[in-house]
Amino acid sequence: MTFVVTESCIRCKYTDCVDVCPVDAFREGPNFLVIDPDDCIDCAVCVPECPVNAIYADEDVPANQQDFIALNAELSPKWKTITRTKAALPDADEWAKVVVKRAELKR
Ligand code: SF4
Ligand code: SF4
Repeated sequence: MTFVVTESCIRCKYTDCVDVCPVDAFREGPNFLVIDPDDCIDCAVCVPECPVNAIYADEDVPANQQDFIALNAELSPKWKTITRTKAALPDADEWAKVVVKRAELKR
């Protein structure tokens, strides 16, 4: 099992989640975060920290977000570890209202 970051995080990247992770499992891309499934210990403490409810246990990922399970695994070895909260992207509050934004993901 692992926890997974889904579409809501794209272009928001509030990073509230990273401060609480006891094993530094978050990886940072240009406009999205992922969780490294090899490091995540399934503690769930990051879930309530996310203001846009982007984080799910893999077994609870909604049907229309299932591809993000593989995407977290694929991108986590390529991106750097992020361990501290930093400023959200400048237009994060606007993008937080957008539901469909896969096409915006930068790798
Ligand atoms: S708190 Fe949510 S939106 Fe912010 S970086 Fe973490 S998963 Fe993404
Ligand atoms: S579930 Fe726990 S270990 Fe996994 S990413 Fe969230 S805070 Fe880190």
